[in-house]
Amino acid sequence: MIEMSLKDECGICGRVLRVTYMRRCQRCKRLFCRDCMVPDVATGDPTAMLCLNCARRVVSPRSFSKYEGLGTHLKFRGAFTGVVKLSFARIDGLIGSNLPMSAYRDETWWNNSPSNAHTKAWLDAGWEVQEVNLKEGYVVFKKVRNVPFKTKRRSSRNEIKKPFTPVPVRSSKPKVPSKTKVSKLYARIKNLERQRAAARGSIRGFKPKSQYEKKLFKPNEKP
Ligand SMILES: [Zn+2]
Ligand SMILES: [Zn+2]
Repeated sequence: MIEMSLKDECGICGRVLRVTYMRRCQRCKRLFCRDCMVPDVATGDPTAMLCLNCARRVVSPRSFSKYEGLGTHLKFRGAFTGVVKLSFARIDGLIGSNLPMSAYRDETWWNNSPSNAHTKAWLDAGWEVQEVNLKEGYVVFKKVRNVPFKTKRRSSRNEIKKPFTPVPVRSSKPKVPSKTKVSKLYARIKNLERQRAAARGSIRGFKPKSQYEKKLFKPNEKP
């Protein structure tokens, strides 16, 4: 069981984290981890955060159906697994809204009939409901076909796409690395330090300027 008040589950990524690392979405009023939230650009207030589901709805309100978040999640999971168990609370987080009461009370709400709008969310994603447990409040989805998961986000440079592979050891004779290599490596280390510093700073709800950025911005200085 999750310790009440100390830790909570992020409604989007599902990680259980200390509540101090979580924020409440201004729109759906649920708790999310800071990685799954963005500042509400409409208000310009850096402490007003939106969960990614709500942010997406704000940006493209028309193309978003209520259960799209669930379908997107299943498509994503489908790249790695064929069975996904989700608690009702987790689904609430994924859709950024409350499941209707009938989902809690009536098992037929979860049947795979394609005539229902909500059912289409998982059917179109290539998944079917395999098991529902109303008493414990979870549902098990089974993948029935592959639907490619496409992100609308442009691929970010910071994303880690490949597992870490160590540099192969080549010759026994030590070679002096080129200056370009050294400076590239040095820049990379600096970058990592900066990212780490930024991540530490952003926990408080704002991102302080790094030493490097401060150095860059000198409005009164003439070259
Ligand atoms: Zn999260
Ligand atoms: Zn939200």
